[in-house]
Amino acid sequence: MIDGQIKMAEQKTIRKVAIIGGGPKGIYGFERLAAWLKVCPPSEKIEIHIFNRSDSFGAGENYRTDQPSYLLMNNPVGDVNMWSEEKPLPVVQNPLSLPEWLCRFAGMNISNNDYATRAMAGRYLSHGFNEIASSLPENVEGKYIVGEVVDIYKNTGKYSLSLKAIDDKKYRHQADRYDHVLLATGHPKHSNKKQSRLFKSFADNHQKAGFIPFVYPAETVFSDVPPNCTVGIKGIGLTFVDAVLALTEGKGGRFSRDEISGRLTYIRSGDEPKVIYPFSRSGLPMIPRKSVTIKNNELKYFTRSALQKFEPGKKLNFEEQIWPLLKQDMIYAYYHIALKNSGYTEGLSGCESFEEIERYIEEFHKKNPSELRFDPNTFLDPFHASEIQKGKSHHQFIEALYSEYLQEARKGELRSPLAAVTAVWRKASSLFCELYSFGGLTPESQQSFDHLIRGKLNRVTFGPPVENAEKLYSLMESGILNFDAARNPDLVLDKESGSYILQSRPNNTGYPVHFLVDARIPKVTLADNPGPLFRNLINRGLISLYENSSGNEAYRPGAVNISRQGFVIDKNGTVNRRIAVTGTPTEGITFDNDTLSRDRNNFVDGWAEYISREYANIASMVNLPYQSSDESSMNHL
Ligand SMILES: Cc1cc2nc3c(=O)[nH]c(=O)nc-3n(C[C@H](O)[C@H](O)[C@H](O)COP(=O)(O)OP(=O)(O)OC[C@H]3O[C@@H](n4cnc5c(N)ncnc54)[C@H](O)[C@@H]3O)c2cc1C
Repeated sequence: MIDGQIKMAEQKTIRKVAIIGGGPKGIYGFERLAAWLKVCPPSEKIEIHIFNRSDSFGAGENYRTDQPSYLLMNNPVGDVNMWSEEKPLPVVQNPLSLPEWLCRFAGMNISNNDYATRAMAGRYLSHGFNEIASSLPENVEGKYIVGEVVDIYKNTGKYSLSLKAIDDKKYRHQADRYDHVLLATGHPKHSNKKQSRLFKSFADNHQKAGFIPFVYPAETVFSDVPPNCTVGIKGIGLTFVDAVLALTEGKGGRFSRDEISGRLTYIRSGDEPKVIYPFSRSGLPMIPRKSVTIKNNELKYFTRSALQKFEPGKKLNFEEQIWPLLKQDMIYAYYHIALKNSGYTEGLSGCESFEEIERYIEEFHKKNPSELRFDPNTFLDPFHASEIQKGKSHHQFIEALYSEYLQEARKGELRSPLAAVTAVWRKASSLFCELYSFGGLTPESQQSFDHLIRGKLNRVTFGPPVENAEKLYSLMESGILNFDAARNPDLVLDKESGSYILQSRPNNTGYPVHFLVDARIPKVTLADNPGPLFRNLINRGLISLYENSSGNEAYRPGAVNISRQGFVIDKNGTVNRRIAVTGTPTEGITFDNDTLSRDRNNFVDGWAEYISREYANIASMVNLPYQSSDESSMNHL
């Protein structure tokens, strides 16, 4: 053969797979593919190309290893294991969980209930990525490409893509052709919505005003915020905590603990803002949490058997069918501990029915008239009980509430009734994920859950660790963090003063802020914030938007439409097994992708098995266990 022919022949025999996104979920896909290719050795050479916007492979942006140590993980280290426990086993020699890795490689003596820094979790993830890359099976090669994939298109029966390299405005078509593509793109970057553009243009035209549309990288985005100014932060979730710490600790402030009282005090550096005004629709901060070891994670009422009474195959209504069960679990969780704390050693464990529990609770309140009654609705929205606010400023109300939250969180869910309630939604989430996914709720109910209910449940369940909450509390006490404008203020752009004004409705007062920060993580809503890659995929008809429909009702949560195995469904409704999706872009057709969990919505195992069988030429001999009827119309490219 002459040279050119040799090259052509070589090219023909190299099969290629692209993974778009080198964050945790992309690496989980890489790990599964390596494991499957090891047990199903390919008959030809395989290349796996992983594309990531930065060189932070494994860690992605959220767990960058160079971020400041005040940015903590939101879940305890015991929750994190990047390795699959399913067969085939990982290709690496020592697949360690995060706590095991921290002990072995960082010399940390850490318990499963402790919280690590996000940078440390990033080191773990990128170490894991390097381990996989250096343990790939024979005939398999990995290539790791930095750049943003902005388009994917069909190219003579396979797929090619266009890439925008870092700091390069142009994008280039790649010559490679891929048999399979996994989309693992995670969270979108900040949205460029009309409102954001308005805030930015106000800042551009007024010298004193500044607008920060996205809080990461937290160590650099706040560098222009001058000492002693006022800052308004939109969104009071976990990202808000990061923003506040970046504006205080990140600007040289310190937290000092009194050894006797244990109280934390903030020591100013002089470079931090004078006041930070958080605000959001609810005006409420998240409830902090402390992780404790629990033997039994089962709920009593929201259970698989309780759900059997619902008509099989019929879509559910969250508020009418699921919330009543969760409320019972919350009431049980609260009073079980409250009774134990009051000397009833068995709590409610002897009760056989919920009616009996209600009788017990009534007796308990008769004997203990000073005990506050627990009501799940008030718990989710404390403003429900409007008398709570009488005579207090909003800030005083929140400060008192947060002090109580903190006290209870420190006790943990085995000793605090309130902390026990905060654990209910976490315990329910796995079963709820099954119910919700692939249109399990009626369209109207899903819409109401997504927009009104989910945030409330997340607020009470997935809050910051106590360590960070104590810092927030000391900033509230010091007057730097002020919640007076927090509840759904109007945001006015005041040209005269050149500042943004948070116009608080309850006390009819305006709070001027120089800097406005958007501390929300944009949702993947492919309908209005798709980013270049998904926009092109939609325009090409390679993917479609998921719609939950029933009768005359329809709701589009903004997720990419996929089969139950995670393969995309194109504009003609055809399942395409050449392109799969994992993680956040599927949020809305699946549930709860915002974690490092390996099990939740695990599409990558089936994806990797499918590819490895195809490459080993055994797909036709063995029936794939996950093949389902919705994929019978497979698109042969
Ligand atoms: C600030 C923050 C903190 C969090 N903390 C926790 C926590 O403590 N615990 C927890 O369980 N979860 C946490 N989460 C939730 C988070 O979603 C998951 O932990 C995890 O990061 C999800 O992994 P992923 O790979 O799906 O997405 P990501 O981590 O977002 O990774 C996606 C990767 O794809 C790359 N990418 C995207 N588009 C393209 C493209 N077109 N071309 C090339 N590359 C692309 C990105 O650069 C990124 O590296 C946090 C989320 C955020 C935003």
